[in-house]
Amino acid sequence: MYTSTNIGYPYIGEEREWKKALEAFWRNDLTEGAFQAKLKDIRLARIDKQLKQGIDFVTIGDFTLYDRVLDTAVMFGLIPKRFEWLGGKVNLQTYYGIARGSKEAVASEMTKWFNTNYHYIVPEYEGQLLQITENTLLADFLEAKEAFNIKAKPTIIGPYTFFKLTKGYDKLSQVEYLLALLPLYVQVIQELVEAGASWIQLEEPAFVTTLDEAEVKLIHEIYSQLAIAVPQAKLLLQTYFDSMSAYESLITLPVQGIGLDFIHGHSANMEALRQFGFPQDKILAAGIINGRDIWRANLAEVCSTVKAIEQLSQAKELWLQPSCSLQHVPITVEHEIKLEPVLKNALAFADEKVAEIVEVTKYLQGQDDASKHKISDSMKAIEALKNHPIRNNQTIQQMIQNVSIEDFERHSDFHTRQRMQQQALQLPLFPTTTIGSFPQSEAVKRTRNAWRKKQLSNEAYEAFLAEETKRWIGIQEELDLDVLVHGEFERTDMVEYFGEKLTGFAFTEKAWVVSYGSRCVKPPIIYGDVVWEAPITVRETVYAQSLTKRFVKGMLTGPVTILNWSFVRDDISRKAVAYQIALALRQEVEALEAAGIAIIQVDEPALREGLPLRKEQWGAYLEWAVNAFKLATASVKDITQIHTHMCYCEFNDFIEPISALDADVISIETSRSHGELISSLQVNPYSKGIGLGVYDIHSPRVPSEDEMLGIMKDSLQVLSSNQFWVNPDCGLKTRREPETVAALANMVAAAKTLRQHV
Ligand code: GLN
Ligand code: ZN
Repeated sequence: MYTSTNIGYPYIGEEREWKKALEAFWRNDLTEGAFQAKLKDIRLARIDKQLKQGIDFVTIGDFTLYDRVLDTAVMFGLIPKRFEWLGGKVNLQTYYGIARGSKEAVASEMTKWFNTNYHYIVPEYEGQLLQITENTLLADFLEAKEAFNIKAKPTIIGPYTFFKLTKGYDKLSQVEYLLALLPLYVQVIQELVEAGASWIQLEEPAFVTTLDEAEVKLIHEIYSQLAIAVPQAKLLLQTYFDSMSAYESLITLPVQGIGLDFIHGHSANMEALRQFGFPQDKILAAGIINGRDIWRANLAEVCSTVKAIEQLSQAKELWLQPSCSLQHVPITVEHEIKLEPVLKNALAFADEKVAEIVEVTKYLQGQDDASKHKISDSMKAIEALKNHPIRNNQTIQQMIQNVSIEDFERHSDFHTRQRMQQQALQLPLFPTTTIGSFPQSEAVKRTRNAWRKKQLSNEAYEAFLAEETKRWIGIQEELDLDVLVHGEFERTDMVEYFGEKLTGFAFTEKAWVVSYGSRCVKPPIIYGDVVWEAPITVRETVYAQSLTKRFVKGMLTGPVTILNWSFVRDDISRKAVAYQIALALRQEVEALEAAGIAIIQVDEPALREGLPLRKEQWGAYLEWAVNAFKLATASVKDITQIHTHMCYCEFNDFIEPISALDADVISIETSRSHGELISSLQVNPYSKGIGLGVYDIHSPRVPSEDEMLGIMKDSLQVLSSNQFWVNPDCGLKTRREPETVAALANMVAAAKTLRQHV
């Protein structure tokens, strides 16, 4: 028996209605009542859509006011004490205060949701008295029942994952925390069961990370307590993003169904089925449509995968679903009218993926002749894109084949280069610089929009950009910074800008996905071979350099970041795509060098994001990711100085790969974590050039000279003077001009003071 279902559906709305409603409410343009009514409409519309598409079992609880982890924390009364909540239902002011900060208290931390580009709010346990503030899941369940007369499947972040994502407890208080948490899960589940819910989905993505013995034991304890407390509930233990760890042990958990990801954990999950089988008393929810990519599936292949799963598992019932929540993909291809038809026809966003699941289910149930055609259609669409000339560029494929080991290495080792560069560049001790972008003022944004709308000619736009660059070169000289930048005024986004100028990329109109809170991104699609056709940044860099005697850094986005922040073709490996981008950037780097640019920065802020969930797979990823960076940068002369930049870098387990990039200088974000950084550098010394972010650019606050001097002095305990650079944490595009200039002035003053002390 087959049932079509979903793990979760995007909540932002086809026209980003959700985002707009949130932001209007924050601006006080919507009353709370109007806001709640709007959200209800959006919530119900998405259920309606899935029902009309013919999905058998709809999921609720996949909606949110901001972030689902925060919803869960708030439901459990896990309110950070600084918000002075007095008990009872949590109001929207407090809720959004935790998410975004309020006058009284700073926001909770935000961090990456497993290996996705989504960021959640980190729950904080401080020994609060936990209690259900409001069973929002029950409210959503009843709402769907009333509107559609259905018994939907409520979903909630599972107890183990929620426990793991919370911070603030230690070995001792973790027991106390768990003991407080479990009865709340029990109560929520109990109330849902009483209201008629048949199945409840517990999302446990933490089950696909590396689990040690103690953790597996803890999971067993948690789940047996749940099972004892709510024996009437049917629990679906949902894993995603990879294969389930400790399979043999975890399939024996006392739940009624287990969801496995047969896309990202395909071979390991299949192998586990083969070796250990599947419990006959449970249903198997099989993730068979990729919930992370945007490509149509080959439905014939999907059907045979389902058959294979069925045979190996002998499961009494199979649920067919995406590999994870569809929140990670845009909503519908329908509105994309500008894409070329061969590409558009090969795309599947959330709605199209729901349709695929329904088709496969119908086809396997043998009910539907029409679904037979749909299956062959999918194969034709994929084939057509495969034969597209953009995927068959012989020149680039030949270039990739000709890449040899020497192409990854600089001519000389770091210390030789360092000596030569110092001679050529003659920079002072503790050179000061910035990360690349300067404030994107209202004028910059307005002018770009006018140009995009063709209200402004190319010449006028370029003249404006040149003027802004010139102004900022003046400001930087005035500030007495040592290495200057052109300011990136021509870029809205560090990936889009390069994608638009390389072949192989496509841009959508409405394919938004949520990145955190109400912030959405529209990643480019890499669908063809990536080819460098002409210089991308040479003109603006050379222009900026012509205005000053100081060095101006060339500024590029690295291959791994371009890859990780795009939707990527799946007919060749990610490594192959990364190498194609790297070769294109290598040509750009060479063009900058040939035009006389002596320092070139290649940003890789997303290098760490691509790390697999399991530590044992890190090596394989890092090998090609590091190589891609080296391929892009290694061909320059010894005296050309290569910089790179990363933000949010947790340094302790990452020094080795960073050093392997062989960049002459790396700038990293550390102003909020320099203590940690210093202790990890004590254990793992770093010997190349390194610029420590000495102030946090995420806040308008202007740090004093003394404050930055303190950070620098501390850092010099573990770094030597001749490797140390001084810079802010990241680009300054979101800051305003006055605070930027004031902070940089203090930074330069601090560097000068430091020079006198050594
Ligand atoms: N060069 C980019 C900038 O300054 C780097 C941005 C980033 O690290 N995310 O804006
Ligand atoms: Zn950064």
